[in-house]
Amino acid sequence: MNITEVIKDKIESNQTVLTEFESKQLLQEIGISVPVQKLTTSKEETISAAEEIGFPIVMKLMAEDVVHKSDTGAVKLNLKTKEDVDKAYDDLMSIPSQEEKKISVQKMADEPITELIIGMTTDPQFGPALMFGIGGILVELLEDVSFRIAPITEYDANEMIHEIKGFPILDGYRGKPKADIEAIVEVLMKISDLVTKHEEINEMDLNPVFIYDKGLICVDARIILKKD
Ligand code: ADP
Ligand code: MG
Repeated sequence: MNITEVIKDKIESNQTVLTEFESKQLLQEIGISVPVQKLTTSKEETISAAEEIGFPIVMKLMAEDVVHKSDTGAVKLNLKTKEDVDKAYDDLMSIPSQEEKKISVQKMADEPITELIIGMTTDPQFGPALMFGIGGILVELLEDVSFRIAPITEYDANEMIHEIKGFPILDGYRGKPKADIEAIVEVLMKISDLVTKHEEINEMDLNPVFIYDKGLICVDARIILKKD
């Protein structure tokens, strides 16, 4: 299914929240890199998906009523063997949920320079607004984020990245490599384009995006559509 079909399908079935799996499918379609991911419904399927993807892998419970996955133990990181997968599967299946449970099996991404948060919210007056910040306490405690109303230019995207207080973390802080700023600019532009073309999208949360000296990868995402 392409973006338009996914969105249409959700709206027709009166749903507004795309799962992490669907959200990342959509991001991949607009050229934003995400880990290889497969959706499974049994232990056997999960084990073969893990072997196909290649260890280490991550397993997450996908159920509509499990939103903050790590708070409920629904994220199992760095699984390295078939035995790890076997045990993680049982753990995930024991998490209470009223919904049908599926597992997202995904490639474990390499350790980043830092985690980023890239988002979009709809302002009742100005429409879609893009958000950028560095993950962890910088966003949670210090609210060190920048905003721009979409559509943005590359110049705006660069400003958004450079104006946060935590920018030195991306610029070779304490001997760490410099982050690929161009890759962040590209993601901001792609999201700006997407939300400008698709007014049905109410909210997007790419949290986190792993940033490297070359490239980036979005490991968790959530897209919410407008009601009716
Ligand atoms: P939550 O719903 O709690 O936000 P996430 O899917 O963001 O769950 O997973 C929690 C954390 O696990 C992420 O912030 C990230 O640090 C790590 N993580 C998630 N998916 C991957 C992955 N594919 N590779 C590496 N780390 C991951
Ligand atoms: Mg997350």
